[in-house]
Amino acid sequence: MAPIPGAGLAKGLAVTLRTMTRKTVTDQYPEMQPDLPPRTRGVIGLFEENCTVCMLCARECPDWCIYIDSHKETIPAVTPGGRERSRNVLDRFAIDFSLCMYCGICIEVCPFDALFWSPEFEYAETDIRDLTHERDKLREWMWTVPAPPALDPGAEEPKEIAAARKTADKLAATQTEQGRARSGSPTGAAKPQSTAPAGAAESQSGSSAGSAESQSGSPAGPTEAQSESPAAPTDPQPGPSTGQANPSSGPAEPQPGPTHPQSGPDTSEGDAS
Ligand code: SF4
Ligand code: SF4
Repeated sequence: MAPIPGAGLAKGLAVTLRTMTRKTVTDQYPEMQPDLPPRTRGVIGLFEENCTVCMLCARECPDWCIYIDSHKETIPAVTPGGRERSRNVLDRFAIDFSLCMYCGICIEVCPFDALFWSPEFEYAETDIRDLTHERDKLREWMWTVPAPPALDPGAEEPKEIAAARKTADKLAATQTEQGRARSGSPTGAAKPQSTAPAGAAESQSGSSAGSAESQSGSPAGPTEAQSESPAAPTDPQPGPSTGQANPSSGPAEPQPGPTHPQSGPDTSEGDAS
């Protein structure tokens, strides 16, 4: 069968027309930047403040393309008679990206989160030696590292955060207790002083309202309070309440008031007895 003249041309034009109506799948790089996934392995960034020069990354790198130099520095003892300490100081950290195969082992093994993937990939060089990035350049890549993804809302709370929260709660509870004790002690000390002259017992029985009330009810308060609450002297008294109850002053002596220095439980007990 003889070929129809112009059939090839018509076929070619049909392909052209069909392609012109399709959506393009290519990006006009470099005018248009590619939309890369967040975990793209472009280049490695170094956060050198986290690096302890443990050398794990250099040892585990299959290509031996991480170069680290360091020296030891002696830190003087912080307390007299203490031991001097030494620490590693980073002198050089470089990665040769002409050898790197982007396996990510160095980032995985770093125990101190000093290495990160950055999606940057535009660092081609005309001289292969320039592909060895020193620490300053590796640091620059850190600014291009994307933020970590948000935690799954249903995920279990990390152990570290749970421990920190527990400690903070305990500290807050202790501070609240101390605040309550500070605000409650002067009231407890003032009540018996106004009703009974048993000043000695007041200080020894601590800041508990119960002991103060028992003293106010009986004139023999000093001895009773001491025998009933032997643990009271060890109760830390805030300044004002302890100062008000000076055991050595006795019932007849005026109370020195809140400006009296902390006499301490032991002293007051000895005087009263
Ligand atoms: S990505 Fe792999 S090859 Fe590249 S420096 Fe890290 S460990 Fe070495
Ligand atoms: S593994 Fe991490 S901490 Fe250790 S030398 Fe490498 S980058 Fe520094």
